[in-house]
Amino acid sequence: MASKMPAAIDSNKRKITISMAESSDYESPLECEFCDAKVSFVNGFTREVGDNIISVNPYFRLKTSNTHGSECKYNVEGQVKVIVRESEGNVLTQTESGKFELRLLAVKKAIQELQDLAKKKKKGDSDNQKETKDKEYIKSGKRLGSYINSALRVLKVRSFCEENTDIENLLELVFDGVRLPWKDFYYEDKDFFRCYSNIRKATVTVPIAIIGVIKSIRVIDGKNGKFSVINLAGPYRKSDKKDTLDSVNVSIWSPDIDLFESYKVDDVLLAFGIFDAGEVSEKSNNSFTSSVKKFRNHDLRLWPISKSQLCKVNG
Ligand SMILES: [Zn+2]
Repeated sequence: MASKMPAAIDSNKRKITISMAESSDYESPLECEFCDAKVSFVNGFTREVGDNIISVNPYFRLKTSNTHGSECKYNVEGQVKVIVRESEGNVLTQTESGKFELRLLAVKKAIQELQDLAKKKKKGDSDNQKETKDKEYIKSGKRLGSYINSALRVLKVRSFCEENTDIENLLELVFDGVRLPWKDFYYEDKDFFRCYSNIRKATVTVPIAIIGVIKSIRVIDGKNGKFSVINLAGPYRKSDKKDTLDSVNVSIWSPDIDLFESYKVDDVLLAFGIFDAGEVSEKSNNSFTSSVKKFRNHDLRLWPISKSQLCKVNG
């Protein structure tokens, strides 16, 4: 398994795009655009997530027991190697065994440091102090930005893969010397409930990645000013009560109301950082015709400190 691909080459050496494949305008067998691995076409489809119907775009996939050539741009190992080579600091490294490691403690520390600086910057008393704080903030911001950027680049590689297994043998996740399984770090919408309970029971907070489809982007006029909020489509789950459904709501918040302006509803968003899991809260269903009278909501929130904690990926 490996990356999902947007084009392929047919037996007449023609480049086949998604729309050509959809109208069966090609001669089998299909090959990768950049190497001789055999690929097949996967039609687009829709799936239900809670109240939302989400479309999954069509793509080309690697056929079973085929692998991309080592120089192919869809070779996952090759992609990770490039990112490791270009990354700064010790956030991504190669171990003695030749595998790669993403060091999550370094990322967590950088996030916390920047949050502290942002608070201090707000408090800054004299102008003189303010200038030093600003400089410190910009310097740390750059370092954090490059750490997050490296992490986000490997997450992007994962998002183009079909499963965790496509990357987990190659790239290990390490937090303070402990190895973390990818399933407890990278969550798709079907995993949101598990993500919630993992965060609730965790004694130490670890940065995680959440990928989902944007359901809404709003500006909320709160007590402490305006906030921009993104909500992701989340699944429902049957509860022990007949008239109550469990829901999970992932939201991303910012006091900078322009921060999310490059995103729109239905975009697939990858969000990385330290999420909070709030208490479960009950709310009644606005639809009176439904047999569901109440939702028991599980709230997951992220307050990104840097724009580089978010990126749009193709669904
Ligand atoms: Zn290839």
